[in-house]
Amino acid sequence: MITTLAGGVGAAKLLDGLSSIVPPEKLTIIVNTGDDCEFHGLHVSPDIDIIIYTLAGLVDEEKGWGIKNDTFNCLEMLKVYGHETWFKLGDRDLATHIHRTMMLRSGYRLSEVTKDICTRLGLKQRIIPMTDDYFATKIRTDNETMHFQEYLVRRSSVDVIREIVYDGSENAKPAPGVIESIMEAEIVIVCPSNPLVSIGTILAVKGVRQALRETKAKKIAVSPIIGGTVVKGPADKMMRYLGIEVSALGVAKLYADFLDVFVMDEVDASLVHDVEKLGIKAVTTNTLMKTKDDRVRLAKFVLDTALTYRKA
Ligand code: GDP
Repeated sequence: MITTLAGGVGAAKLLDGLSSIVPPEKLTIIVNTGDDCEFHGLHVSPDIDIIIYTLAGLVDEEKGWGIKNDTFNCLEMLKVYGHETWFKLGDRDLATHIHRTMMLRSGYRLSEVTKDICTRLGLKQRIIPMTDDYFATKIRTDNETMHFQEYLVRRSSVDVIREIVYDGSENAKPAPGVIESIMEAEIVIVCPSNPLVSIGTILAVKGVRQALRETKAKKIAVSPIIGGTVVKGPADKMMRYLGIEVSALGVAKLYADFLDVFVMDEVDASLVHDVEKLGIKAVTTNTLMKTKDDRVRLAKFVLDTALTYRKA
């Protein structure tokens, strides 16, 4: 059994690779829900949908999110009615959010809704939201505190960040299966996702960090920072504002209390020694996933490395 912690696009690529080499029933994916937001009265779970659409072969590969060949007629009409349309939701994508919202309103939990969507789209991987409870990642700037989606999409990550607020983390319980899948796994893989607002949120859910420290699984992470910069997204800016070193080493420090092995890009080979001083085994390879082959190769490397150190 392999359990993974995942954000959106970066994670989806590695999970796509893993799904090519691991029987889907053996893969559990715990997904960040700190990005979840309500738009036009609908519950949108951006990271869950990116993972599901990618694994179901539905994703718009160019963007990395949304459904391929989707149209935006509904959004255009909402604009005519004077609604804000900065968060792009395609017509077919909207069906997912309508379905999710209807089920939530009928009393189903987010984890049950996610399972239903997976089943209907033919996915056999177990995809679990980190929590069924309210949890919203917010960004505090000098002037205001805004939802992460507003910072990321509406304001294109331009603001100077003073603090990341995990709103709801005091009360959010792990969704059913989150702690169990970490405790029972042979390998836990931390995907290359934003360490603060994708993985950091999962780690902020009660009991998750402790489970990662206590499980007998080998815990391996892939660095989302390559050569001191991101492949995409605002992780580098966020780390800099919060005084965290923008490097694979900076990421390793955030996971040092539970991690066994850290996979860094080969351009970061000079950091191996410093990562190992944290008590983490460090290995390097090409970690950039541009093609399907890259995804499968990196997934294989991660799995082989974890198995090697599991036996050691
Ligand atoms: P998130 O998963 O929701 O946090 O968002 P993204 O997947 O868009 O990006 C998060 C992090 O993943 C960023 O810091 C990227 O640098 C990293 N990332 C995206 N693609 C790759 C990749 O191919 N390889 C590696 N190593 N990191 C990646």
